[in-house]
Amino acid sequence: MTATIIDGKAFAATIRARVAEEVARVKAAGVTPGLAVVLVGEDPASAVYVRNKGRQTLEAGMHSEEHRLDATASEAEVLDIVARLNADPAIHGILVQLPLPDHIDAGLVIDAIDPDKDVDGFHISNVGRLATGQKALVPCTPLGCLMMLRDHLGDLSGREAVVIGRSNIVGKPMAQLLLRDSATVTIAHSRTADLPAVVRRADIVVAAVGRPKMVTGDWIKPGATVIDVGINRVPNGEKNRLVGDCDFESCAAVAGAITPVPGGVGPMTIACLLANTVTACCRAHGLPEPE
Ligand code: NDP
Repeated sequence: MTATIIDGKAFAATIRARVAEEVARVKAAGVTPGLAVVLVGEDPASAVYVRNKGRQTLEAGMHSEEHRLDATASEAEVLDIVARLNADPAIHGILVQLPLPDHIDAGLVIDAIDPDKDVDGFHISNVGRLATGQKALVPCTPLGCLMMLRDHLGDLSGREAVVIGRSNIVGKPMAQLLLRDSATVTIAHSRTADLPAVVRRADIVVAAVGRPKMVTGDWIKPGATVIDVGINRVPNGEKNRLVGDCDFESCAAVAGAITPVPGGVGPMTIACLLANTVTACCRAHGLPEPE
């Protein structure tokens, strides 16, 4: 069997086009959704992400702001920018690019963001709202995974899902979203006993581990849908190459569908960030929310 390749790049383009339509609708009601990204320091990967976020925000017709601070900026300076953005009516979404330099407490900064503008969905209020089934802003990467799963599988209820990884930014919110869609969810992690046997039960596998090619085809139930969140840089001659947490070749030989790396989950993340910003804007202004 050869798996269907879930094309995240194409799907993300569809989502961005939908977001642009929603932006036009919201603008017609007199509001322009605005996203502010705060970048502290010169981490090259973060700088690339922030540039892409800014470009795609503008392409969707939204207002985009970038606030760059030196790596030596104090925690108070970062908190001050967050406070100003919280109070700014032109801004509906605030994203503080992680990781922050070591001398800044990322938890403190995230919890200083107005939860209604927390488009990354990391604020403890949004975590709690998601866990208790209330309206939340949901972390972008797991939201993108959920959209791909729904698009590919339709109704997820009753399906056996295994999420490998229990981080606050991917694993745990992914499990919450699958649970919300009535899947039967197992969260696996580094202490899980006989991980291959656990994964073999799954109709849906979401791998968010950070270990190159850890999940191999013999772990996969025939026909399962595999979502590979991992982004791992491995040496490839002079340069590095990106690989996922799943061994693509062997998994694709058994799975029913699989996301590639790159071109799977990655492109969905920014698309969901834009979607979250429009949602936050609609909620702030009492406008109908996008579906
Ligand atoms: P974390 O390092 O925060 O979490 C990794 C999780 O994997 C932990 O829960 C850990 O378990 C678990 N784990 C580690 N080793 C094993 C193992 N041998 N067997 C089973 N579980 C294991 O990573 P993130 O959640 O932040 O990211 C995961 C991956 O997703 C990374 O490759 C990251 O680059 C990628 N990523 C991709 C994004 C995208 O846009 N596509 C966005 C965010 C992340 P334990 O808790 O027990 O230590």
